[in-house]
Amino acid sequence: MKSRFGFAAKAEGLDMDKRTFLKLLSALMTAPVFAPLFASATGERLKNWAGNLEYSTDHLTSATSLDQVREFVKQQPRLKVLGTRHCFNDIADSARNLLSLKPMDQVIALDPEARTVTAAAGITYGQLCPHLHEKGFALHNLASLPHISVAGACSTATHGSGEKNGNLPTAVSALELVTASGEVVKLSRRDDASTFHGAVVGLGALGVITKVTLDLQPTFLMRQYVYENLPLSQLKDHFDAIESSAYSVSLFTDWQKQRLNEVWLKSRTEPGQVFDAQPEFFGAKRATKNLHPIAELSAENCTEQMGVPGPWYERLPHFRMGFTPSAGKELQSEFFVPRQHAVEAILAVERLRDQVTPHLMISEIRTIAADHFWMSPCYQQPSVAIHFTWKQDWPAVSQLLPVIERELAPFKARPHWGKLFTMSPLQLKSSYEKLAEFIQLSKKFDPQGKFRNAFLERNVFGS
Ligand SMILES: Cc1cc2nc3c(=O)[nH]c(=O)nc-3n(C[C@H](O)[C@H](O)[C@H](O)COP(=O)(O)OP(=O)(O)OC[C@H]3O[C@@H](n4cnc5c(N)ncnc54)[C@H](O)[C@@H]3O)c2cc1C
Repeated sequence: MKSRFGFAAKAEGLDMDKRTFLKLLSALMTAPVFAPLFASATGERLKNWAGNLEYSTDHLTSATSLDQVREFVKQQPRLKVLGTRHCFNDIADSARNLLSLKPMDQVIALDPEARTVTAAAGITYGQLCPHLHEKGFALHNLASLPHISVAGACSTATHGSGEKNGNLPTAVSALELVTASGEVVKLSRRDDASTFHGAVVGLGALGVITKVTLDLQPTFLMRQYVYENLPLSQLKDHFDAIESSAYSVSLFTDWQKQRLNEVWLKSRTEPGQVFDAQPEFFGAKRATKNLHPIAELSAENCTEQMGVPGPWYERLPHFRMGFTPSAGKELQSEFFVPRQHAVEAILAVERLRDQVTPHLMISEIRTIAADHFWMSPCYQQPSVAIHFTWKQDWPAVSQLLPVIERELAPFKARPHWGKLFTMSPLQLKSSYEKLAEFIQLSKKFDPQGKFRNAFLERNVFGS
């Protein structure tokens, strides 16, 4: 007899090899009714994508329907939903139960009139975007990779780049949520504005998101050009012009030699918006071949560059679906500062270059428009995000983060919710003016703290 919570999806996108999968399968065939997947049946612990975090439990159950989610939530005293496991910290961790919605990955409805799509919450951008393009639609922006789940990405305020582009949750117009009692709550931007703005960047604290509705626009093509070696002096003097020169701009740097190693410019090929790809861009030279942001790595993993036109979903991310994004064995941190302090904040980090670079693979600087989500680092504040892809050496990175955080403190920096930081909970909490309302809303949907974990207790709920 088969578990109600379904064994079907037990490969779970865990990137496990065939041998491990077969071992798991044989463990599952002998497992009792309702048994969840025990990754430890193979002697391996369940880890996040980068492998730097072992989840505190191997109790991973997958749901294939709203009813299964409701039943599981009612039964369990404590649980966390796992998306695609791309966070670097313990925000998705649980000491008791992990629930995966991976099999719930269907596109439920595309409404061409309203220009919205509704999808089950386990869907990834990589699954959703080609479908939208085929039907003549696009999302406004994407993160550096399409591999992540829509619900997991929006829960942590995941973002791309672009002066006028809000983070990925700004595309959400409605949510379906299973709260701690198993009740189904529907929230929309139009009808429940206040609650909605508290719930979309919900850090997994309010319940299980089971459906997401996203705003669409007509599909579009893009071109991507990369320039090398932009002098830091040009960035200092022309930050605004550089950032507004394309629909989405990413600056990559190792902080050395007073220059930005690579500038990635992603422009729409629409009349009036075509980027004029001159051989030089603020002193940087146009690249003559596709590049990876980490110069030593193969550009095969990256989206097409050199001005070759392509659909939005194959140009907005830096990394291609079906290939490893970024480096793989790495750590990540990212800090948001108000847009008006962009240059000062960048220079503050640059002064730390000789401490930072030895532990770094690459840094990325992006801009994000303001939004209205209570727990978004860009809440009512156009922002610049300074990101660090670190070598996987937590002892060294954990020594360095307080130094960077101290330098960025005058700008009231806020860390990315899904990446590594060492900022004190007090400092973090003091930078979210809507925190009290968020806690109240969480208590309304989850009075007993069913969806809380150590990360949330420490950084959000702790006094
Ligand atoms: C290589 C790489 C590149 C990245 N690039 C970017 C980038 O360009 N921009 C950026 O901002 N971030 C980036 N990130 C960070 C990443 O996008 C976020 O951490 C995102 O939250 C990951 O989504 P996930 O589905 O893997 O979430 P998970 O790590 O699985 O979960 C994240 C949170 O969402 C909650 N959650 C997940 N699904 C649900 C649900 N259905 N209901 C309720 N809660 C849910 C979890 O409980 C947890 O709290 C990158 C990460 C990696 C590894």
